[in-house]
Amino acid sequence: MKILVTGGAGYIGSICAAELLAAGHEVVVFDNLYQGHREAVPADAAFVEGDLRDSDAVVRLFQQHRGFDGIMHFASFTLVGESMQQPLKYLRDNLVAAANLLEHAVANGVGRFILSSTANLFDDPVIIPIDADERIVPGSPYGESKYFIERMLFWFERIYGLKYACLRYFNAAGGTPDRGEHHEPELHLIPIVLQVALGQREKVVIFGNDYPTKDGTCVRDYIHVLDLAQAHILALEALDRLGSRKYNLGNGNGFTNLEVVETARQVTGHPIPYEFGPRRPGDPAVLIASSETIRRELGWTPRFPDLEQIIGSAWEWHRRHPHGYRRQG
Ligand code: UDP
Repeated sequence: MKILVTGGAGYIGSICAAELLAAGHEVVVFDNLYQGHREAVPADAAFVEGDLRDSDAVVRLFQQHRGFDGIMHFASFTLVGESMQQPLKYLRDNLVAAANLLEHAVANGVGRFILSSTANLFDDPVIIPIDADERIVPGSPYGESKYFIERMLFWFERIYGLKYACLRYFNAAGGTPDRGEHHEPELHLIPIVLQVALGQREKVVIFGNDYPTKDGTCVRDYIHVLDLAQAHILALEALDRLGSRKYNLGNGNGFTNLEVVETARQVTGHPIPYEFGPRRPGDPAVLIASSETIRRELGWTPRFPDLEQIIGSAWEWHRRHPHGYRRQG
């Protein structure tokens, strides 16, 4: 299939693009390089630089590249904490971007759409592990923006027949030898912990130690980015057969923030000092996925379920690329 990957220069998008190519698909990456890195785009993918918020740029994209069989939509602002400070960056920009993309997708006959959604839809879960049928309570403007895009897709199916899958990931982590997590500024726990191990930071600040969890720190479900990529490809390939779907994606195992630090100590051999700070607004105490639906329907199963493997693969990339994608000198 010929697939448009928006945000394909970013962390998850670039790894999905590489895995799509490895599975024999054709890939066009569209990215504004605001957070993404040109170097992360696979050499075999076509690349178009542009911004989804700019409707003219989206028109040009679909004029330049015709006949897409599907879209994987990763391009987005993605930070829970930032969205609590700048809500319109999420409630306006993420939605305008998705609306422009969807408008031109259906106008150009694209029938399949995979959305990179989020566990931040589940701020107050009734049942943990959290299944795809759990009630939706967005935890932040970021989560709300993804929920709204899910609702846009609902109506685009009803009105235009677009088939879609929403993949709500829990905590994407890990890397491949060539691609990994590089944000500026870095705000995610695992890369920050590894920057401490590399000597680039003195310590990590753990946000909150008064949560109702076994050691007082938040619990998250880390999923290897290659397992996420696999899930995207399976979901895309099954859309015609199964119709639109919503899947939660995680390992089903939660680890506290202190357990992440401890595992990273073992993997890296570095003491990784930490201190406690205040809670970060928008952070739920516990996020653990039930991936039961995608396991049952698509036969998906994580190939890298262990936290040691996940942090180990991230460490491997960080050691090889201590400055990320940034050119040195
Ligand atoms: N976290 C932390 N210190 C940091 C960054 C993150 O304690 O410097 C915590 C954060 O509060 C959350 C967990 O680590 O409990 C995972 O956060 P991250 O930003 O990596 O992913 P998110 O869960 O927001 O998608």
